Amino acid sequence: MPAFKVTPLPFGRDNYIWIISNGRHAALVDPGEAAPALTALNGLELAAILLTHHHGDHTGGVGEIVAHYPGVPVYGPHKDNIPHVDHPVENGDRILIEPLELELQVIDVTAHTRGHVAYLGHGMLFCGDALFSAGCGRIFEGTASDLELALGRLARLNDETKVYCAHEYTLANLAFARAVEPENSARDRYASHCEALRRQGKPTLPSTIAIERAINPFLRIDVESVIDSVAAHCGTRPDNMLTCLATLRAWKDVFKG
Ligand code: ZN
Ligand code: FE
Repeated sequence: MPAFKVTPLPFGRDNYIWIISNGRHAALVDPGEAAPALTALNGLELAAILLTHHHGDHTGGVGEIVAHYPGVPVYGPHKDNIPHVDHPVENGDRILIEPLELELQVIDVTAHTRGHVAYLGHGMLFCGDALFSAGCGRIFEGTASDLELALGRLARLNDETKVYCAHEYTLANLAFARAVEPENSARDRYASHCEALRRQGKPTLPSTIAIERAINPFLRIDVESVIDSVAAHCGTRPDNMLTCLATLRAWKDVFKG
């Protein structure tokens, strides 16, 4: 069982590139900018680039990185049609990044974009903008029903799965989570922990699936307090989980903490 070091490379306002390394080789997830990735590689051999979706803040650095590492395989969702991707992937694919002995399963999490994928392996989930800690990505190209399917796939993963999201949105998402579920002591404890991390300038990520199930309203659309709160917010009680999720997502879209 290979041991990996997974490090966030912050750039821009709140983005993270994740670098997965075994000390000799490395893979980059969502290098939206080349400079932080090239600096972090610092002598490591680049074994692969993994892309979750086509947005520029996840793909913008790929061209320059590939120019430095000609021939490096670039994995990305087949439906998102991203330049430089030479290993298009889709739901259920298994990929092996040999130099790293990194084996990943591809999970379709369409909703934010039409082809958004997540990569799962070795207890780690790289989910781009599909799932955030205490939140989820906006629906840009898919439907609420796609989002329900995507979040359902992620919510079913093992409790201990570490969740590596592509943005540091946790504190803002927690403010919305508090509005939805004022009484959730697990969320309050998690919020104090995350606030302390941010005061020290540290990332709140990775989270875990167990944490997200306990605190993330988008994974709690079957919980009575969340349904009640959505009902109070929109004036009618959602008659199924899809309506509850769609309403919750629309509420978050206009929420100002
Ligand atoms: Zn995005
Ligand atoms: Fe993004």
